Amino acid sequence: MVRTAFASIMLLLGLAMPSPVLGDCTCAVTRMKGGWCTECKVGHLASVRVESESLFEILDAHGHHINPATIRCTSCAIAIKSEGFCERCGMGYVDGLAYVSMLTYQIAKGTPLDPTTIACRKCVTHASGFGWCDTCKVGMIGNVAIRDKRDYEHASKAFEKLLIANETAKKCETCALAIVTDSTCPKCKITYKDGKKRPTADP
Ligand SMILES: [Zn+2]
Ligand SMILES: [Zn+2]
Ligand SMILES: [Zn+2]
Ligand SMILES: [Zn+2]
Repeated sequence: MVRTAFASIMLLLGLAMPSPVLGDCTCAVTRMKGGWCTECKVGHLASVRVESESLFEILDAHGHHINPATIRCTSCAIAIKSEGFCERCGMGYVDGLAYVSMLTYQIAKGTPLDPTTIACRKCVTHASGFGWCDTCKVGMIGNVAIRDKRDYEHASKAFEKLLIANETAKKCETCALAIVTDSTCPKCKITYKDGKKRPTADP
């Protein structure tokens, strides 16, 4: 009884139960809101199916509790109050939680939609990829709706990078990580910047 009550509280809070206890597939929820399904070993983020667990982990698609009193960066202090993004630290703030990338910050700020409930055909198409609809004045990155065009532009750029990384993960997982972090794959010695291979100076 206690266990059941606890489980329903956890569900209400939107927290995943450890899989060995419940062992249930959470895809129905994570497909909509983002998250990792321990049962299927697959992550969902803005309608993107991420099969690489390390790629999903590095995306760090959840908010982190912060203590505003410990924030030393002045631009972060402003961002916390305005639900903004600090370019210097690469941190965004939504509902008092910190997000460690532009993509996860924009997804947190956006509204997840069930694509079957979207009336506009153009927006439905965008929901299976990404795009801005001038009729609805809304941008979609997967199933996440973003109402501000500048926010959408930032989000779609980061989202494209995720799509490239996710595709690359099938060939080389560490390349995928290097793509999202703008760094070098230690195995392939390829350096990435903005989702593209960057010529290296080494011989
Ligand atoms: Zn599942
Ligand atoms: Zn900062
Ligand atoms: Zn539309
Ligand atoms: Zn590689």
